Amino acid sequence: MPEAIPTYRPVHLGTRRARRREHDARRGSARSRGYNTRWEKSRKVYLAEHPLCVCCEVHGRVTPATVVDHVIPHQGDMVLFWDPDNRQGLCEDCHNGEKAHLEHLWAKGNIDASQLRFGAVV
Ligand SMILES: [Zn+2]
Repeated sequence: MPEAIPTYRPVHLGTRRARRREHDARRGSARSRGYNTRWEKSRKVYLAEHPLCVCCEVHGRVTPATVVDHVIPHQGDMVLFWDPDNRQGLCEDCHNGEKAHLEHLWAKGNIDASQLRFGAVV
């Protein structure tokens, strides 16, 4: 049987699994970025104490929070990662939508870090 001819497969056209592997290789797996069992416990406690999405609240909606967002992206800084004052509860939509947009603006220097927090500091 002839050997298979090597095929060029751009990552962006690969399977979802391949894209995820590539993405993890670039920024490290969730676990290597600190999202371990300790985080999972801490996250559950936070969501029990802060059950609503603060972004939705700002917009007059009542939505359960499912994501513990790092207000200032920690980018591997474990002090920021574990800082209890650097957290806010968001729903998935707000986390991946409005907050991601704000983080993009912040990364480009267009907004101040204080604008990454929704609502008042509690
Ligand atoms: Zn929301």
